[in-house]
Amino acid sequence: MTQREFLFSPRLLVIEDNEMNRELVVDVLTPAGFLIVEADSAEVGIEMAFDHPPDLILMDIALPGLDGLEARILLKANTKTAHIPVVALTAHAMHGDEVRALGAGCIGFITKPLDTRTLAQQIFLFLEKGEDAEKRPDLRLAKPSENVFRSSLNTEDARSKL
Ligand code: MN
Repeated sequence: MTQREFLFSPRLLVIEDNEMNRELVVDVLTPAGFLIVEADSAEVGIEMAFDHPPDLILMDIALPGLDGLEARILLKANTKTAHIPVVALTAHAMHGDEVRALGAGCIGFITKPLDTRTLAQQIFLFLEKGEDAEKRPDLRLAKPSENVFRSSLNTEDARSKL
């Protein structure tokens, strides 16, 4: 089971200093039903997460100022944000970042450059994983559905790449 339908739009906070990547995330995931808020630094993103905790955070590792791993630890240390699953965005060439991201408490990572064909599916799976990990009754997932990604994703191809 890899396709789901949301009763409510899941809120996704993208903390990424690369504007093109943020735009790509918005362009791909908005049509898939996500509500996306953006921050271009960890400092701004952490404040946003404290004010309005999202359902999932996509966190770039290489950021100006605080990096993504430091930010993840700060989020974990605050009761308002400790439960929020964080997925790291790692650069393909920086292999050690993936291990460090998991060590810092990220539930997983997505490697850049981002694959627009699989991104939504990956986020769905991470939301499921986050739900299992945190046992959150309020994570807003509904029943599986066949129709969510038909227009935006070749699912067979996506599965082969996951
Ligand atoms: Mn960056």
